[in-house]
Amino acid sequence: MTIKQISFAVFLFVFSGLFAFTVFRLVSFFKLTKESYPINRIGERLNILLLVAFGQSKILRRPAIGLMHALVYWGFLVITIGSTEMVLDGLFGSERIFGFLGPIYTFIVASGDLFAAFIIFACFAFLFRRHIMKVKRFSGTEMTAKSSADATIALSMIIILMISLLGMNAGYLAVHGPDPVGYYPVAKYLTSMIAPENAHFVHETNWWVHIVTIFVFMNILPYSKHFHIFMSMPNVFLTDLKPMTQLDNMKSVTKEVKLMMSEWTPSEAPDNASETPAEESAPPERFGVKDVEDLTWKNYMDSLTCTECGRCTSVCPANITGKLLSPRKIFVDVRKRMNDKGPGLAKDNAYTDGKALVGDYITTEELWACTTCNACVQECPVNIDHVSLIVNMRRNLVMEESNAPTELIQMFTNIENNGSPWQFSPDDRMKWATNIAKNS
Ligand code: SF4
Ligand code: SF4
Repeated sequence: MTIKQISFAVFLFVFSGLFAFTVFRLVSFFKLTKESYPINRIGERLNILLLVAFGQSKILRRPAIGLMHALVYWGFLVITIGSTEMVLDGLFGSERIFGFLGPIYTFIVASGDLFAAFIIFACFAFLFRRHIMKVKRFSGTEMTAKSSADATIALSMIIILMISLLGMNAGYLAVHGPDPVGYYPVAKYLTSMIAPENAHFVHETNWWVHIVTIFVFMNILPYSKHFHIFMSMPNVFLTDLKPMTQLDNMKSVTKEVKLMMSEWTPSEAPDNASETPAEESAPPERFGVKDVEDLTWKNYMDSLTCTECGRCTSVCPANITGKLLSPRKIFVDVRKRMNDKGPGLAKDNAYTDGKALVGDYITTEELWACTTCNACVQECPVNIDHVSLIVNMRRNLVMEESNAPTELIQMFTNIENNGSPWQFSPDDRMKWATNIAKNS
């Protein structure tokens, strides 16, 4: 075993261990959440994955910047194959271990080389848009200095990754002269800058810079909005397949409501137990969502997947008309709240810090500003569902705190008393037709 192999094995062990620690921390947070819909209809899910994740269909709705982002994404997919090869080379002391793939390998490394050059250009364009053009959707109360720093650090690290990849390829070509494994359409123009006696040094230095940056980046990602690099594909695959505007009924109250609306007589209700099993009709510990322990796993997953791109907020009619609501902020706050409360809850499920997601992080004014139009859900490139979470937080406000705008409270009272939103008895419903009947 060479010194390089031993050093790399130690490095891999330490950084994989750090990453495993983060994964365990996230798993402990997921364990605090509640169940959601079943993961079925796998074929449909694969279709959505192909279209939205691999095909970048939502991103491409904004053609220019969308294409740039999509090319970066596709480039990363190709370059990840090269990164896997580097890990194997580092462990086994080999060089270009996937070279046996022949023309396929040539295609992969050639496209990786081209993508690397393009990604450097794209990252500078993204930095320009963020810091010089100051695109509006990158601003907002939830877009803190940390958020902006996260983006800048991530883009800078990607630039380092791509420069070192090209440097490594150029060094490799300089070492191997006219007979390399694979084809490197960009790096071949860089070899003339490398003196033959420095070729090995250039290759090795860039190899280490590239692999160290990958693993440092991998460990930083879960603590930043760029965690979407890992999360977006699973999140898209696990999209809620029900129609976008359909809200889930709360099973625990469905029976009561049906009884009230006279769809069941009390004596019939138990026979319909298959629709509302006993355990589901029992009152839940909490109605709706008040804090992170009331979230479903999908709500929390959505928060980890949010790229903070602001596409949702930019189409939100409430936000556009000057209301406090920003759909992006809802998920930024969920992530923040889980980071604040999750560690305590993971140790003691009765832990409380005297705060709650609704009230201390997300205000009632934000929640009641939502029109449930679903424009945010439609626009989100990673299929995050804002509306079901907002509605569940509202349910908690209404059912546990009677906290709703006055107009809604009046309507709820009417429904309770009259079985309709109107302020008159159901017996009076046809009064409007009396005169018509008399005159006809
Ligand atoms: S559903 Fe609500 S949060 Fe989403 S865009 Fe419409 S108003 Fe905004
Ligand atoms: S919720 Fe979706 S659209 Fe909104 S900021 Fe996050 S990733 Fe972008």
